[in-house]
Order: sequence, then structure tokens, then C-alpha cells
Amino acid sequence: MKTVNTKYIIIGAGLSGLTTAHLLLKHGERDFLILEGRNRVGGRILTNNGVDIGATWLQDHHTNLNGLLDSLSLKKFEQYSKGQSVLVYNTMAPAHYFESQHNGPSAQRISGGSKALITKLTEGLKDKILLDTKALELTENSETVQIKTNAGIYIANKVVVTIPPKLASTLTFTPTLPDNLLGAMKQTHTWMSNAMKIGLVFKKPFWREKNFSGTVIGQVGPVIELYDHCCADNKTFALMGFINEGLRDVTAAQRKERILAYLEKYLGEEIRGYESYFEKDWSKDEFTSCENLKSVYMSPHYGNKHFEDFYFKEKLCFSGTETSPIYGGYLDGAVYSGITTARKLLQKELD
Ligand SMILES: Cc1cc2nc3c(=O)[nH]c(=O)nc-3n(C[C@H](O)[C@H](O)[C@H](O)COP(=O)(O)OP(=O)(O)OC[C@H]3O[C@@H](n4cnc5c(N)ncnc54)[C@H](O)[C@@H]3O)c2cc1C
Repeated sequence: MKTVNTKYIIIGAGLSGLTTAHLLLKHGERDFLILEGRNRVGGRILTNNGVDIGATWLQDHHTNLNGLLDSLSLKKFEQYSKGQSVLVYNTMAPAHYFESQHNGPSAQRISGGSKALITKLTEGLKDKILLDTKALELTENSETVQIKTNAGIYIANKVVVTIPPKLASTLTFTPTLPDNLLGAMKQTHTWMSNAMKIGLVFKKPFWREKNFSGTVIGQVGPVIELYDHCCADNKTFALMGFINEGLRDVTAAQRKERILAYLEKYLGEEIRGYESYFEKDWSKDEFTSCENLKSVYMSPHYGNKHFEDFYFKEKLCFSGTETSPIYGGYLDGAVYSGITTARKLLQKELD
């Protein structure tokens, strides 16, 4: 097995790890690597056929994310919500139709899909990212940390773990991590790790033509939330939503039919004329989820203070959205933690 030495290693090429790496590079540091277990970058950001099957929305108060988007010259646009939306509160009773009020802060999307952010961040980092490299064991040596992966041994002076804390708690750390840290890791729910999403791509936005917004909401049906997901340039037309977790254990064919029949009822038979249909169950993704998954509908607690410290005598630290005291769970929390970690490594304020 090969052995590679470097100054810094970031484990995980999600938004947090890539933000840190981007800032290291921007501030002249080139002696680092990013180890990524998946065969792609982005983590919980995943855009498939123009549809954000992972993270999608941001708002004005997400100042860290907005700042990063501005610095990368990425544009945003408003979530489409014109026309009639549907609220299903009882599948036996008629649905309630309503029009969105445009007087509050609106959800925004990233032009080009959320992956546009990942594509920009990885510019200049290509030779630093090692895909299909899954961290298994972290061992403290006197001046370094050794990471055993499926693809060799990596050794660094400092290591940043951006794996969601609950999942990271399943790795082997030698010496073992302090009980209070390990306890916090195990109790930190991985945001959206129980989510199941669908995307449907169409030739035309038939719902817009019928004065529907594309929004269908209700806890009682197979789809709990559905939204218009056409691209900013209006060249790709899509709907995207969250599937009711009750459908996790039926067959894919049964699930699809129940979803289509339900949406047909509220948006019309055109729903069956999709060009492509796809689903993603994040609870079945080994790089986001792990056993003992429980759905968490109330706001979980993020940014435990034990995530602020260094371990392994200043050689190991934790980052990632769940470690963030600011908008933990969200994209903004991932960016905040990524910036904070770069600042800690470089030991200076960053512009
Ligand atoms: C379905 C869904 C919808 C969402 N919607 C929104 C939204 O609309 N707005 C919003 O703000 N946020 C949303 N989020 C949350 C958002 O995606 C996250 O906050 C953000 O992407 C987290 O980034 P991260 O870098 O902290 O973690 P991650 O993206 O999870 O990155 C961690 C990385 O570590 C890698 N990894 C894991 N284990 C190993 C290992 N052993 N070795 C090496 N690498 C490993 C993973 O592959 C991954 O690339 C959503 C998430 C999901 C899943």
C-alpha cells in the first residue's frame, strides 16, 4: 500500500471541506489533500439532470453562503411560486388551493443548480482531491496523524474531519476520542439524512401553463412537498419534491406509481408525460447516513462546543455543517464551518 505525506488533510469533499480547501489555496497554501469516499465531489449537494436532489434553497439571512456566492460570481434566482398551490390535508376531502403571498423573504436557488457552487469551488483543486478514498482509521503519531483508507495510508500534520459527526463516530480513532466529544458526535443528527427526494423533468412546464405554481404540500400523501424546479434560464423544466418516508419500504415500482397517481390527481395527467423520473433515498447512502437513523422533524441541536476544540494534541479538528453554531444543518452552516476551519489552520483572519 502506498503512503502519502502532506501538511494538511481534509476528509470529505462536501461544501465545508471544499470551502476550507478553496480558502487555503486562495491564501497561498498548496500543501494539502482532500480525501473523498464517494466517486464524486459535493456530498449532500447533488444536481441530477438539472434537479437539485440534495440541497436547494438559501435565504438572505444566510450571509456566509451569500458572501461565498458573491465572491465566486455565482448568481441566484427566486423560487418560482406564481399561480395556484395545493394544500392536501386529507386525501378523502377536496384539496385547498391558495396563492403565495410575495411579501416575505423568499427562498432562492443558485443559477445552474447547487452543483454550480461545487464546480466553482473545485476550480484549481482538481489535483488535490482524491475520490474513492474512504477514511477508515485515524491514528495519532508524535508529530502527525495517520489515516488508513481503502486506497492507502495518508499522513498529515493536521487533519480536518468534515464527515457528518454521527457517521464520523463510526471510524476508529487511536487513541480513542474523549467521551464528551464522542457522545456529542453520536447524538448529532445528520441533517436530511432521512430525506427521500424525487425529480421529474418535462419538455414543457405544463403546470405553469395551467396556472399552477407546482407547489403541492401535505403530510398525508406519497409526496409531502413538491415544487417547481425549472432552471433559471428556463431551458430545463422540472418538478422536485420530498417523498413520504412511509414509502421507503415498498418496491420502487409501487412507490413510483403511487407518486404519479397522487400528483396526477392534483396537477393533471400530464404528470405521466415526464422525460425522466428519478429518486434518491439519502438514508441508504453510506457516505451520509448510518444505522440507528431516526426521523427528526423538530430542529435538532447543532454546533456542540466540543466541536470547536482541536484533538490529538492540536493535530485533529472537526468541521461540517453539523458542527456549526450558525445555521447548523444548512448550506450556510457548512460554509461557516469551512471558513472557521481555514482560519484556524492558517491562524489568521481571512478576507
Ligand atoms: C435532501 C437534502 C436536501 C437539503 N436541502 C437543503 C436546502 O434546501 N438548503 C440548505 O441550506 N441545506 C440543505 N441541505 C443540507 C446541505 O446539503 C448540507 O448542509 C451541506 O451540503 C453539508 O455540507 P458538509 O460539507 O458539511 O457535509 P457533506 O456534504 O455531508 O460532506 C461530507 C463529505 O464527507 C464524505 N465522506 C463521508 N464519509 C467519508 C469517509 N469515511 N471518508 C472520506 N469521505 C467521507 C462524503 O462523501 C461527503 O462528500 C439538504 C440536504 C439534503 C440531503
